Amino acid sequence: MRLILLGPPGAGKGTQAQRLVEKYSIPQLSTGDMLRAAVKAETEVGLKAKAVMDAGELVSDAIVNAIVSERIDAPDCENGFILDGYPRTLHQADAVAEMLAGKGIGLDAVIELLVDDKALVGRIVKRAEEAKAAGQPVRKDDTPEVFDERLREYYKKTAPLTGYYYAKGMLKTVDGMDTIEGVTSQIEKILGEI
Ligand code: AMP
Repeated sequence: MRLILLGPPGAGKGTQAQRLVEKYSIPQLSTGDMLRAAVKAETEVGLKAKAVMDAGELVSDAIVNAIVSERIDAPDCENGFILDGYPRTLHQADAVAEMLAGKGIGLDAVIELLVDDKALVGRIVKRAEEAKAAGQPVRKDDTPEVFDERLREYYKKTAPLTGYYYAKGMLKTVDGMDTIEGVTSQIEKILGEI
Protein backbone atom coordinates (compact mmCIF):
# COMPACT_ATOMS: atom_id res chain seq x y z
CA MET A 1 0.00 0.00 0.00
CA ARG A 2 1.56 3.27 -1.14
CA LEU A 3 -0.35 6.23 0.04
CA ILE A 4 -0.17 10.03 0.08
CA LEU A 5 -1.99 12.05 2.73
CA LEU A 6 -2.72 15.59 1.59
CA GLY A 7 -4.02 18.50 3.60
CA PRO A 8 -3.02 21.77 5.24
CA PRO A 9 -0.93 21.94 8.41
CA GLY A 10 -3.05 20.80 11.33
CA ALA A 11 -5.41 18.73 9.16
CA GLY A 12 -4.52 15.55 11.05
CA LYS A 13 -2.25 13.87 8.48
CA GLY A 14 0.30 12.81 11.11
CA THR A 15 -2.33 11.49 13.49
CA GLN A 16 -4.01 9.46 10.76
CA ALA A 17 -0.70 8.22 9.38
CA GLN A 18 0.25 6.85 12.79
CA ARG A 19 -3.01 4.93 13.00
CA LEU A 20 -2.53 3.50 9.50
CA VAL A 21 1.02 2.41 10.36
CA GLU A 22 -0.38 0.03 12.96
CA LYS A 23 -3.17 -1.29 10.79
CA TYR A 24 -1.17 -1.86 7.59
CA SER A 25 2.32 -2.41 9.07
CA ILE A 26 3.91 0.10 6.71
CA PRO A 27 6.02 3.09 7.78
CA GLN A 28 4.94 6.71 8.00
CA LEU A 29 7.32 8.85 5.97
CA SER A 30 6.95 12.35 7.35
CA THR A 31 9.32 14.77 5.64
CA GLY A 32 8.69 17.21 8.52
CA ASP A 33 9.91 14.58 11.05
CA MET A 34 12.89 13.71 8.87
CA LEU A 35 13.85 17.37 8.51
CA ARG A 36 13.42 18.01 12.25
CA ALA A 37 15.71 15.02 12.94
CA ALA A 38 18.28 16.50 10.52
CA VAL A 39 18.05 19.88 12.26
CA LYS A 40 18.54 18.22 15.65
CA ALA A 41 21.52 16.22 14.42
CA GLU A 42 22.94 19.37 12.80
CA THR A 43 23.59 17.58 9.52
CA GLU A 44 24.32 19.58 6.38
CA VAL A 45 20.65 19.30 5.36
CA GLY A 46 19.52 20.27 8.86
CA LEU A 47 21.70 23.36 8.89
CA LYS A 48 20.27 24.45 5.54
CA ALA A 49 16.66 23.71 6.50
CA LYS A 50 16.46 25.17 10.00
CA ALA A 51 15.83 28.86 9.28
CA VAL A 52 13.39 28.05 6.48
CA MET A 53 11.38 25.73 8.72
CA ASP A 54 11.37 28.18 11.63
CA ALA A 55 9.92 30.80 9.27
CA GLY A 56 7.16 28.44 8.14
CA GLU A 57 8.40 28.32 4.56
CA LEU A 58 9.07 25.27 2.42
CA VAL A 59 12.49 23.65 2.23
CA SER A 60 13.82 23.30 -1.33
CA ASP A 61 12.44 20.59 -3.56
CA ALA A 62 15.96 19.29 -4.20
CA ILE A 63 16.54 18.64 -0.50
CA VAL A 64 13.24 16.92 0.24
CA ASN A 65 13.21 14.92 -2.98
CA ALA A 66 16.65 13.55 -2.13
CA ILE A 67 15.57 12.63 1.42
CA VAL A 68 12.45 10.81 0.21
CA SER A 69 14.21 9.06 -2.65
CA GLU A 70 16.75 7.60 -0.23
CA ARG A 71 14.14 6.72 2.39
CA ILE A 72 11.85 4.76 0.09
CA ASP A 73 14.75 2.51 -0.88
CA ALA A 74 14.97 1.24 2.71
CA PRO A 75 13.85 -2.37 3.25
CA ASP A 76 10.94 -1.39 5.53
CA CYS A 77 9.31 0.40 2.56
CA GLU A 78 9.15 -2.74 0.45
CA ASN A 79 5.49 -3.37 1.25
CA GLY A 80 4.53 0.27 1.02
CA PHE A 81 4.53 3.51 2.96
CA ILE A 82 2.44 6.50 3.93
CA LEU A 83 3.76 9.84 2.69
CA ASP A 84 2.82 12.50 5.24
CA GLY A 85 3.68 16.08 4.28
CA TYR A 86 5.18 15.08 0.94
CA PRO A 87 4.74 15.95 -1.88
CA ARG A 88 4.10 19.61 -1.11
CA THR A 89 4.77 21.19 -4.53
CA LEU A 90 3.95 20.21 -8.10
CA HIS A 91 7.64 19.63 -8.68
CA GLN A 92 7.72 17.18 -5.75
CA ALA A 93 4.62 15.44 -7.09
CA ASP A 94 6.37 14.91 -10.43
CA ALA A 95 9.49 13.77 -8.61
CA VAL A 96 7.70 11.11 -6.58
CA ALA A 97 5.92 9.83 -9.68
CA GLU A 98 9.31 9.49 -11.38
CA MET A 99 10.93 7.83 -8.36
CA LEU A 100 8.20 5.22 -8.22
CA ALA A 101 8.07 4.69 -11.97
CA GLY A 102 11.81 4.06 -11.89
CA LYS A 103 11.14 1.20 -9.48
CA GLY A 104 8.23 -0.10 -11.54
CA ILE A 105 5.69 0.74 -8.82
CA GLY A 106 2.93 3.31 -8.42
CA LEU A 107 0.75 5.01 -5.85
CA ASP A 108 -2.38 3.26 -4.61
CA ALA A 109 -4.17 6.31 -3.29
CA VAL A 110 -3.96 10.03 -2.62
CA ILE A 111 -6.25 11.00 0.22
CA GLU A 112 -7.01 14.61 1.02
CA LEU A 113 -8.21 15.60 4.48
CA LEU A 114 -10.67 18.46 4.08
CA VAL A 115 -10.63 20.78 7.08
CA ASP A 116 -12.19 24.13 7.83
CA ASP A 117 -9.33 26.70 7.88
CA LYS A 118 -10.72 28.28 11.03
CA ALA A 119 -10.17 25.02 12.94
CA LEU A 120 -6.53 24.69 11.91
CA VAL A 121 -4.81 27.32 14.02
CA GLY A 122 -6.69 26.07 17.11
CA ARG A 123 -5.43 22.54 16.46
CA ILE A 124 -1.84 23.77 16.12
CA VAL A 125 -2.04 25.75 19.38
CA LYS A 126 -3.53 22.68 21.10
CA ARG A 127 -0.72 20.47 19.76
CA ALA A 128 1.86 22.88 21.19
CA GLU A 129 0.09 22.96 24.58
CA GLU A 130 -0.15 19.17 24.72
CA ALA A 131 3.53 18.75 23.84
CA LYS A 132 4.48 21.23 26.56
CA ALA A 133 2.28 19.51 29.16
CA ALA A 134 3.83 16.14 28.26
CA GLY A 135 7.32 17.56 28.69
CA GLN A 136 8.02 17.10 24.98
CA PRO A 137 9.77 19.68 22.81
CA VAL A 138 7.39 22.25 21.34
CA ARG A 139 7.80 22.88 17.62
CA LYS A 140 9.04 26.38 16.92
CA ASP A 141 6.66 26.65 13.98
CA ASP A 142 3.58 25.74 16.03
CA THR A 143 2.75 29.36 16.89
CA PRO A 144 -0.16 31.36 15.43
CA GLU A 145 2.30 33.75 13.70
CA VAL A 146 4.36 31.09 11.93
CA PHE A 147 1.21 29.12 11.27
CA ASP A 148 -0.11 31.98 9.09
CA GLU A 149 2.96 31.66 6.88
CA ARG A 150 2.64 27.86 6.75
CA LEU A 151 -0.96 28.19 5.63
CA ARG A 152 0.03 30.75 2.97
CA GLU A 153 2.72 28.38 1.70
CA TYR A 154 0.11 25.63 1.63
CA TYR A 155 -2.29 27.64 -0.54
CA LYS A 156 0.43 28.91 -2.84
CA LYS A 157 2.36 25.70 -3.38
CA THR A 158 0.55 22.63 -2.05
CA ALA A 159 -3.15 23.21 -2.71
CA PRO A 160 -2.58 22.89 -6.51
CA LEU A 161 -1.79 19.23 -5.89
CA THR A 162 -5.49 18.61 -5.36
CA GLY A 163 -6.14 19.47 -9.00
CA TYR A 164 -3.04 17.59 -10.12
CA TYR A 165 -4.18 14.31 -8.55
CA TYR A 166 -7.84 14.90 -9.39
CA ALA A 167 -6.90 15.22 -13.07
CA LYS A 168 -5.08 11.91 -12.82
CA GLY A 169 -8.20 10.29 -11.32
CA MET A 170 -6.29 9.51 -8.12
CA LEU A 171 -7.77 11.94 -5.61
CA LYS A 172 -10.01 10.76 -2.77
CA THR A 173 -11.30 13.11 -0.11
CA VAL A 174 -12.38 12.62 3.48
CA ASP A 175 -14.09 14.95 5.92
CA GLY A 176 -11.23 15.95 8.20
CA MET A 177 -13.63 17.69 10.60
CA ASP A 178 -14.93 14.29 11.71
CA THR A 179 -13.56 12.72 14.91
CA ILE A 180 -10.12 11.07 14.75
CA GLU A 181 -11.85 7.66 14.74
CA GLY A 182 -14.31 8.83 12.10
CA VAL A 183 -11.57 10.07 9.77
CA THR A 184 -9.72 6.76 10.18
CA SER A 185 -12.91 4.86 9.25
CA GLN A 186 -13.40 7.01 6.16
CA ILE A 187 -9.80 6.34 5.08
CA GLU A 188 -10.10 2.62 5.76
CA LYS A 189 -13.25 2.50 3.68
CA ILE A 190 -11.41 4.10 0.74
CA LEU A 191 -8.46 1.77 1.14
CA GLY A 192 -10.79 -1.21 1.30
CA GLU A 193 -12.22 -0.30 -2.08
CA ILE A 194 -8.96 0.03 -4.02
P1 AMP B 1 5.38 19.34 8.83
O1 AMP B 1 5.90 18.58 10.00
O2 AMP B 1 4.90 18.44 7.74
O3 AMP B 1 4.34 20.37 9.22
O4 AMP B 1 6.60 20.15 8.21
C1 AMP B 1 7.28 21.13 8.98
C2 AMP B 1 8.13 22.00 8.07
O5 AMP B 1 9.11 21.18 7.40
C3 AMP B 1 7.38 22.67 6.93
O6 AMP B 1 6.79 23.90 7.33
C4 AMP B 1 8.53 22.91 5.93
O7 AMP B 1 9.38 23.97 6.33
C5 AMP B 1 9.32 21.61 6.07
N1 AMP B 1 8.81 20.57 5.17
C6 AMP B 1 8.23 19.38 5.50
N2 AMP B 1 7.89 18.66 4.43
C7 AMP B 1 8.27 19.41 3.36
C8 AMP B 1 8.17 19.23 1.95
N3 AMP B 1 7.61 18.13 1.43
N4 AMP B 1 8.65 20.22 1.16
C9 AMP B 1 9.23 21.33 1.66
N5 AMP B 1 9.33 21.57 2.98
C10 AMP B 1 8.86 20.62 3.84
